[in-house]
This record gives sequence, structure tokens and C-alpha cells, in this order.
Amino acid sequence: MARSILFVHAHPDDESIGTGATMAHYAAQGAHVTLVTCTLGEEGEIHVPELAQLEAAQADQLGGYRLTELRSALAALGTIDARMLGGAGRYRDSGMMGTLANEHPRAFWGADLEEASMHLVEIMDEVRPQVVVTYDANGFYGHPDHIQAHRVAMRASEIAAERGFGPSKIYWTAMPLSVLKAGVEALADSTDNPFAAVTDVADFPFGTPDEEVAACIDGSDHHDAKVAALKAHATQIPETSWLYSIAGNFGQEFMGVEHYTLAHGVRGRGDGPYGWETDLFSGLPDGSPAAR
Ligand SMILES: [Zn+2]
Repeated sequence: MARSILFVHAHPDDESIGTGATMAHYAAQGAHVTLVTCTLGEEGEIHVPELAQLEAAQADQLGGYRLTELRSALAALGTIDARMLGGAGRYRDSGMMGTLANEHPRAFWGADLEEASMHLVEIMDEVRPQVVVTYDANGFYGHPDHIQAHRVAMRASEIAAERGFGPSKIYWTAMPLSVLKAGVEALADSTDNPFAAVTDVADFPFGTPDEEVAACIDGSDHHDAKVAALKAHATQIPETSWLYSIAGNFGQEFMGVEHYTLAHGVRGRGDGPYGWETDLFSGLPDGSPAAR
């Protein structure tokens, strides 16, 4: 059976920021890489002055525009089977927690979980992923759409399993505490330091003890592709973003190496002090290397 991996993300740009190197890595290996994006990201801030009037409070055209950014980003990452949950425009960006956008009738945050999950089950039935990648229960950092994407991915996987085509493994994106600490130190002298107020990495809404991380995907061969994908999301990620400055300090490792915890399935053989898998298909019948 051909390798098939499904990524479930909340907004256009999340795929590139969180899992861009992993997606490029598996696309380059010839795996079937599916991306399901749950909303168009209508509530995003706009960092391109000429496009400022697209914002939700004015023309409310940002969502459609971000589809074009997503297309360019995915072209950089490789052959990706891109879908929008329920079709483009079905679910709307819910904005930050506690904002009025949470109450919009199409806000993803207010979506019926079963209905939204069934849209994903249909896609799973078609592409039959052995591996599903999404966020943890806190949506990695607490955004309502990320939390909802997690719920939908988990519920859809459960329904798919009942129907005999559930994924063998489910991963959640993770940032090992060691990497987070190194990143904070690297940014300490930077003029654009979003973490200047942080004195302890425990204050971050994310960060996973290294021993709880299950997999580390080295996609540093695809560093340039990931940077190109980030640049394609120009309305969201300004040229001055700390993402680029931290990458400048760290080199290819920051951008190209991505980490995951294993939420479901049997962990395969891994490397290093914590036995981190180097392949998300590790231990699966067609994966390598064999399960321990
Ligand atoms: Zn997002």
C-alpha cells in the first residue's frame, strides 16, 4: 500500500509554519500528502499595507486572498493534495479566543463537531491515510480554530476506525523544551524579540518535555522550500518576522527539523537519548524501520 499522510490545520499558513518541512519531506519521497485546512483565515492581521482593506472589518476579502497564498506555498512544498474542510468558505476563522468573531454563524469554533468530522471522514475514506498529523488538545497554543481542528481530526479518526479505515498513527505537533530554550536564548539579543517578556520557558503555552516527544523529522533538505512557503504567506508573516530572524541565528535546523508527540498507535524504533522516531511511518507494515 502506498504511503499516505494527512495533515489537518486550522488556517492557511499553519501548514507551512508548523509542518512545512515534514510535508515537503514526504512529498519528495513520493508519499500521498493531503492537507486539510479548516478555515480561510479571514480574521488574520494583514502585514501588507496595500492589502489592508481586505480585512474582515472592511472588504472582508482576506479569506479568498489567502487561498492564493496557500496555493503558492504548497507549490513550494511539492505535490500536495490540498482540501478545504467542507469546501472553501464552509467554516470561518473564529478569531482569537473571546472575540466577537467566535460568534459568527459560520465560525469554526461553533461548528457541529459531528458534521465537521464527517467532512474529514469522507476525505479519509478517499485517501486512506496511515498517518494523521494535527495539534494537541490545546491547539498547540490555544487558538479556538486550532483546538477545533484537533477535535475534528480526533473525532474523524475515531469514526474512520469504526468504519475500518482509521489511521494507524496520529501525531500532534510539538516543540521540545530544549529547542524552545535554545530559541529563546538565540533571540535574546534580537531587536524583534516577541519573547522579551518571557523569563521562564514554562510561561509559554507550548513546549513539551523532550522525553515526551516521539518523533523528530529532519526535513532540513527542504529548508529553502519551507522558507519559500512562509514567504508566500506574505499577508501573515512580515519580512521582519522573528521566524526569519531566529532562522538566521539557528540556521537550517530551526526551520527544517520538526517534532511530534504520538497520540495514537505504536511507536517505532527511534534514535538518540529519547528514542525519537525519524520517520512518521516507522513501525508500520510498509514503513521503516521495523517496530521494536
Ligand atoms: Zn492558525
